[in-house]
Amino acid sequence: MLKLNSHPTGRHFLQIPGPTNVPDRVLRAIDHPTIDHRGPEFQQLGLKVLRDIRVIFQTTQPVIIYGASGTGAWEAALVNTLSPGDRVLMFETGHFATLWKKLAERLGLKPAFIGGDWRRGADAAAIRERLQHDGAHEIKAVCVVHNETSTGVTSNIPAVRAALDDARHPALLMVDTISSLASIDYRHDAWGVDVTVAGSQKGLMLPPGLSFNAVSARALEASKRARLPRSYWSWDEILAANANGYWPYTPATNLLYGLAEAIDILLEEGLPNVFARHDRHAEATRRAVRGWGLEVLCANPAEYSSSLTAVVMPKDAGGKHYDADAFRKVVLEKFNMSLGTGLSKLAGWVFRIGHLGDFNDLSLAGTLAGVEMGLAAAGVPHRKGGVQAALDYLAECAASAVRKRKAA
Ligand code: PLP
Repeated sequence: MLKLNSHPTGRHFLQIPGPTNVPDRVLRAIDHPTIDHRGPEFQQLGLKVLRDIRVIFQTTQPVIIYGASGTGAWEAALVNTLSPGDRVLMFETGHFATLWKKLAERLGLKPAFIGGDWRRGADAAAIRERLQHDGAHEIKAVCVVHNETSTGVTSNIPAVRAALDDARHPALLMVDTISSLASIDYRHDAWGVDVTVAGSQKGLMLPPGLSFNAVSARALEASKRARLPRSYWSWDEILAANANGYWPYTPATNLLYGLAEAIDILLEEGLPNVFARHDRHAEATRRAVRGWGLEVLCANPAEYSSSLTAVVMPKDAGGKHYDADAFRKVVLEKFNMSLGTGLSKLAGWVFRIGHLGDFNDLSLAGTLAGVEMGLAAAGVPHRKGGVQAALDYLAECAASAVRKRKAA
């Protein structure tokens, strides 16, 4: 086992792009006796979370809550709406889009995968073209990852919606918001999404263990005809029980306490402020990365992620990237901070800084200080001043907010 300091003082900096740091208020909410999940007290909790979670998805339609990780909600979205052999159109934004495609194949679906270079988001024009060539409407669903956690690239979902509309194609639109919900603006209703997939362990600031399907009326209609086998994931039984605040099986009671608290925290801050905070921290992080003379993996500024930044390690004289994981190991051992590893084809030459969830300017300053000191300690060539560039930006944002408040 990895030996850290005999007693690491202070809190661990969990700066992977999820699971994220859980606020004390949420930890305290979870730390309660488990109650009868068929009793009246639970009913109040169930009705509250089922009502309030809709605000987070920006929907008035049902949101189904599973005791499962995000992968379960991926599967639930597909098995509730599709039939064996159905074609689905997916876009290769990175590691997670690739995993969702593999899951679809295992379920007996036929995914068409539009290739991508893992540095850009879903190409709405390419999706439109594919749909226009599908006159027989064999494609039953278009599945896109909103924020690709492996690359730090956010796709433009309204543009994908417009692609379906322009092609006059009836396919369902399914979106994975596992690393964007409650961090980056996302609108299930206004953007015409049929199934939104999400998880508890990122913007919602909860431990892993809950996941979600927000569903449209069209998705519910499709679920009546869908023939893929399903039992645990089946929306109909869950929705019937949810009408009274219950679940057909034993729900994750204590995580639901935490969810109720997390939603309260998010709504106290206000969703627009939550999104603006994530935008600010992402911009400060990119300024730090550029200040170090390093490269952000995302190639299109319009698609920069506000919940994480993937950073490319510099190359040595022989053209080989410095080892991202050796660098992360130094940061963990010396500064008690976890950074995200590079996934699949990004392994070894990319690392990720998570700046989402329960996070403020000083947590970001500490995170970036840990990265800058880690680069020096690991002998990775870089320029000094990245942290300073980020601090200057954060200070300017704070000053501008103070000026605005005075003027108001
Ligand atoms: N989709 C995205 C975008 C993710 O970031 C993740 C996990 O990080 C998943 C899907 C899979 O979710 P889980 O690991 O909770 O099953």
